[in-house]
Amino acid sequence: MKRPALLLCIVLLAACSREPQVHRAEFFVFGTVLDVSVQGADAATAKRAFAELQQDFQVMHRDWHAWEPGALTRVNAAFAAGRSATADAAIVELVRRSQQLEELSGGRFNPAIGALIRLWGFHTSDYPILGPPPPAEAIERLVLQNPSSLDIRIEGLSLATANPAVQLDFGAIAKGYAIDLACARLQQIGIHNAIVNAGGDLRAIGDHGDRPWRVAIRNPGGGIVGSLETGTDEAVFTSGNYERFRQQDDRRYPHILDPRSGWPVTALASVTVIADEGLLADAAATALIVAGPDEWAGVARAMGLEQVLLVDVEGRVFLTPAMQQRVSLVDGIESVAVEISP
Ligand code: AMP
Ligand code: MG
Repeated sequence: MKRPALLLCIVLLAACSREPQVHRAEFFVFGTVLDVSVQGADAATAKRAFAELQQDFQVMHRDWHAWEPGALTRVNAAFAAGRSATADAAIVELVRRSQQLEELSGGRFNPAIGALIRLWGFHTSDYPILGPPPPAEAIERLVLQNPSSLDIRIEGLSLATANPAVQLDFGAIAKGYAIDLACARLQQIGIHNAIVNAGGDLRAIGDHGDRPWRVAIRNPGGGIVGSLETGTDEAVFTSGNYERFRQQDDRRYPHILDPRSGWPVTALASVTVIADEGLLADAAATALIVAGPDEWAGVARAMGLEQVLLVDVEGRVFLTPAMQQRVSLVDGIESVAVEISP
């Protein structure tokens, strides 16, 4: 069944009167359901906030979409034709932040590989995709063109590149940035306690009345790995390799690509990052999946991260000491602590 591009918000009030009153709304954006819970605001303020968020999300969905025609596809068409493009402030900010994060991650996070992502058929919301991988020569050809967000020149709102292979795909950070902007919008309206949650990728501001927000970390093998209480303003993002993939017989080709080879990465099942903003946590989770079991600690250090949890394909859990202090693992889950500081 095809879902509507955006779902109008449903406002629910907490049923139990002893609970602090929570207002909730759901939005459908970037192919996922985004759940917003607001605490300690009156109903009218919450309703106004949800109406504004609905508008914001609609604009983001339209402008940042990697394949539905809109602002970003116009930028990509201009790049492919060797022309410069005028973008809006949010897209320019996405490019600017991407450049920093691509550099810090040593190119493991690279939002300029849109052509590769398209070649793999990942410009879709319908998973799994069935069928063989694209021809190795076609992958090789795109990799050799070295697309990078660092090839983009920003002048005011104008974007230009001399590399026609640069095709932006913000799939690895759009959700993070959208959630950051949503939190900023709520604060602007005077709401200081809220959680914006897209299926476990979330940012919390303030607290949940007399207790913090408690969030679960999903286990790629089913169930949950553990749970944690969010701080007053932080984001928790997980990148997983187990939900979105191409499949041929028994072989799976997950949707996260190593930009250096053009092939999907398969060694880690999921990576969870806590950071103080969604955009960083989202980009970093993707970068660390690409970095894999041998390189993730070095990349985490370079990106300035402290709180990271990984699950490898055998279901083993690795986590940093700072994450260990935060998360309570489910009984029976063994973990290995890994130091990332120099
Ligand atoms: P996430 O779920 O945040 O890890 O983002 C995955 C999405 O980001 C994919 O569906 C692609 O659209 C895009 N993507 C895949 N590989 C990369 C990469 N190495 N760097 C940046 N974006 C990527
Ligand atoms: Mg990501």
